[in-house]
Amino acid sequence: MEVQDRLGRPLANLRVSVTDRCNLRCNYCMPEAEYVWLPRNDILTFEEIDRLVDVFAALGTDKVRITGGEPLLRTDLPDLVALLAGKAALRDLALTTNGILLAEQVPALRQAGLPRITVSLDTLESDRFEALTRFDRHRDVLRGLDAAAGAGFESVKIDTVVIRGVNDDELVPMLEYGRRVNAEVRFIEYMDVGGATRWSMDDVVSRREMLDRLAAHYGGTEAVDESTAAPADRFTLPDGLVFGIISSTTEPFCRQCDRSRLTADGLWYRCLYARTGTDLRGPLRAGAGREALEDLIAATWRQRDDRGAEERLAAADRSTFIPVEALQSQPHLEMHTRGG
Ligand code: SAM
Ligand code: SF4
Ligand code: SF4
Repeated sequence: MEVQDRLGRPLANLRVSVTDRCNLRCNYCMPEAEYVWLPRNDILTFEEIDRLVDVFAALGTDKVRITGGEPLLRTDLPDLVALLAGKAALRDLALTTNGILLAEQVPALRQAGLPRITVSLDTLESDRFEALTRFDRHRDVLRGLDAAAGAGFESVKIDTVVIRGVNDDELVPMLEYGRRVNAEVRFIEYMDVGGATRWSMDDVVSRREMLDRLAAHYGGTEAVDESTAAPADRFTLPDGLVFGIISSTTEPFCRQCDRSRLTADGLWYRCLYARTGTDLRGPLRAGAGREALEDLIAATWRQRDDRGAEERLAAADRSTFIPVEALQSQPHLEMHTRGG
């Protein structure tokens, strides 16, 4: 049974966060000194995630992305990958990682059947990396990307959040780096979600501006003609190199949005900007059967009318979305808890 929300959007795409912990502190995601972590006992086991994914799959979900926090911090992650990779109902399985622990884990992830991987990398300069993330681990990410390049993944992508005055002078170097390691680069507009408490519209480099700058350097860019629910618009350079731009801030794509998010402790969010989620851990641990979970998820999705990024765009006052005090008392509002 496939369900649709109030705007006719299917429940096709699930992002599964496996931990809220992270080994970086990117200043657009985790800028504070201290964080309140989810209680360990609340974190879903792989068997619980597996059961929930089956319920989602029965309702039309055919794409799953494993995320976090930093997913590679979760012990034995390849075991979860193997469980999910074995599901015939999923036609797409991917993982988003900051890449720090990737080099060591690539073989086990591949062996477990992970077909696709996305590595977040915002700069090619190690000093900048440290200033952005608070850790001197740039070399490890590059090693991770090298390992991924030679591991036979169906696709390796690099996600780069572009921030004015921070890394917006690296559009061309990032594309050239992606070409070298055989990874498609996707530039992400800086968003005012969760932990981005220092966000300002002035720091956003729009899709339009990125395309203009790249066209000025390369002599043109052309849109790839494809109609998918994927958030990245893809473009080609005159020499054929393909790249993407995720314009969530200036040209949001809420009307096609088929994504929902499951936190590591089993709260399910229908929108990245939603303030409340649906507790799935409670019913699961109270013994709810498959049918009851299906009914709960289907009924909740049918009520969905979220268009968070579009509403933010229309807001007259676009100051910080969620003040830091609110984040501290409600860690579920954080990007690193929602999985980005
Ligand atoms: N830790 C992993 C990583 O960084 O790839 C996975 C989780 S992270 C929350 C997922 C994605 O969210 C990353 O690509 C990150 O760059 C992106 N992200 C976090 N905060 C963001 C923001 N304020 N604007 C745009 N993207 C953001
Ligand atoms: Fe950076 Fe990802 Fe960690 Fe957020 S969760 S601080 S984006 S590495
Ligand atoms: Fe989907 Fe919400 Fe993001 Fe819009 S803001 S694209 S509805 S998750």
